[in-house]
Amino acid sequence: MIIDEYKKPKTIEEAYSILTTKENSQIIGGGAYMRLSKKHIGTAVDLSNLKLDFITETENYIEIGATTTLRELEINDITNKYFNGIISKSIKNIVGVQLRNIATVGGSIAGKFGFSDLIAALSVLDSKVILYKTGAVNLLDFINKKHNDVIEKIIITKNNLNADFQSIRNTKTDYAILNVAVSKHNNNFYKIAVGARPGIAICADKAESFLKTVDFSKENAEKAGLIASEEIKFTSNFRASAEYRQELCKTLVSRAILNINC
Ligand SMILES: Cc1cc2nc3c(=O)[nH]c(=O)nc-3n(C[C@H](O)[C@H](O)[C@H](O)COP(=O)(O)OP(=O)(O)OC[C@H]3O[C@@H](n4cnc5c(N)ncnc54)[C@H](O)[C@@H]3O)c2cc1C
Repeated sequence: MIIDEYKKPKTIEEAYSILTTKENSQIIGGGAYMRLSKKHIGTAVDLSNLKLDFITETENYIEIGATTTLRELEINDITNKYFNGIISKSIKNIVGVQLRNIATVGGSIAGKFGFSDLIAALSVLDSKVILYKTGAVNLLDFINKKHNDVIEKIIITKNNLNADFQSIRNTKTDYAILNVAVSKHNNNFYKIAVGARPGIAICADKAESFLKTVDFSKENAEKAGLIASEEIKFTSNFRASAEYRQELCKTLVSRAILNINC
């Protein structure tokens, strides 16, 4: 990666202004992923002076600043208190502590990486991305649309969801071959997200609809896994074949449903 000019703005307005007015400019989060690229950046905008490294709890929301590191998120008492610790569970196997001390929440969301474990987990929670100019955007809308904006924070509604995260990796710290996140409200309302297909996490709408119509049982959890594996598109890469991912999907979805209910 080549950077011509490096800016460390003191306000988010200034960061946004550089991003939107200077040609070929780019925000830097932890820089962990960006540095792997051969890209030539005109102006790099470092957000580390903006005090966006925070995790707070209000009456209704958990708020996570964009420059919070994955490690801070992983070990934080607030995020661990909710949703059966799904956030921590989803990121604790990302490479190692050193990498998680560098990689940020903002970079992990803005990168929209297909393998992203955090995006899979946040997809089954009521999560919003707060962009400086655009304002609040649902996570799924953010993923599906291009925004030339600065992520300020992520907010998650504090509801009493039960949730679980599952992934399979060839080795403990490799990218997931498949990741699955499932959440459940008090009633039979489930959200199921499947990522690292190797494409980015998407929801298993038919499996969710099926679960609304039935009571919990091991058989119905397995049936939901089967439905999810048939509705979601998988492809092959050097880590695993599409067929293998489809088989894993059945198991991981049903396992997550069982974990939530047992
Ligand atoms: C070797 C390696 C292995 C990894 N393995 C995994 C894994 O198994 N699972 C997993 O989920 N992740 C994995 N990751 C990804 C990692 O978890 C982070 O998601 C990634 O490093 C991006 O975070 P960052 O802070 O480094 O972002 P950066 O590299 O700094 O930025 C990534 C992108 O986000 C943009 N950006 C950053 N911050 C903002 C912001 N606030 N507003 C707008 N745009 C922004 C940047 O412009 C850039 O386009 C891996 C990364 C590496 C380097």
